[in-house]
Amino acid sequence: MSNVTDRDSTHRRLFTGSPAECSTSNESAREAARRKAQRIYGLLLAGYGTPAWRQHHNPMSQLILTVLTQNTSDINSGRAFQQLIASFDGWEAVRDAPVEEIAQTIKSAGLSNIKARRIKDILRSIYERNGSLSLDFLRSLDVVEAKSWLRSLGGVGPKTVACVLLFSLGKPVLPVDTHVFRVSQRTGLVQPKVSVEAAHEYIEGLLQPEQVYAFHINVIAHGRRVCKAQRPKCDGCVLHPVCDNPVALPRRDAARQ
Ligand code: SF4
Repeated sequence: MSNVTDRDSTHRRLFTGSPAECSTSNESAREAARRKAQRIYGLLLAGYGTPAWRQHHNPMSQLILTVLTQNTSDINSGRAFQQLIASFDGWEAVRDAPVEEIAQTIKSAGLSNIKARRIKDILRSIYERNGSLSLDFLRSLDVVEAKSWLRSLGGVGPKTVACVLLFSLGKPVLPVDTHVFRVSQRTGLVQPKVSVEAAHEYIEGLLQPEQVYAFHINVIAHGRRVCKAQRPKCDGCVLHPVCDNPVALPRRDAARQ
């Protein structure tokens, strides 16, 4: 379960002003944000259902797959991951292979030289610390410890950490990908100044731990099908009642003007 103090301090960092102003405005802003997150969660649940958690990969494989997904589509990264699995006899072999060979294997994921170097560095780092290439031990750590351990690996950001902990271990850590960030900004759940990095703990702190997985899956579904980057379908959107920034007015409203 996520650490409440950690969540509170994240929230405080997102506000500025004198300490006296902060304490009052932070509390009311926090409550308003929590209420909004709960409305969004409920509306999405009604619209998309309750996805059941399932393990996507073991933690080590999930970490490598998530590195491959950076700046590319799930299809391209998935293809690169399958190619990597098929071409090497285990993660030790990837760790010991020349960067160029790894890069050639994962070419379909794009930025292959950078990703190959990152994957090799991550594998080396994990082996140096643990004496093995398994991350199963993360299961026994609490959320704060597990996040901290993964973040201490070079080239591992908050989204990668969250994907590993949520998808492979079922820990309540929210990945904020491009869909989650876009929907959160448009609805006003996060303010425009909040960075995608800060949005991870901020949004996570507005949810109950047991809500995190369904929230993530449903917001992504909504971002892909309705609240698209280009031409979002605001008319009929289930989040329209709570959205601060509907991009296009519903046709019935536009017709009245
Ligand atoms: S009303 Fe429009 S901008 Fe708001 S969440 Fe729905 S599709 Fe996105």
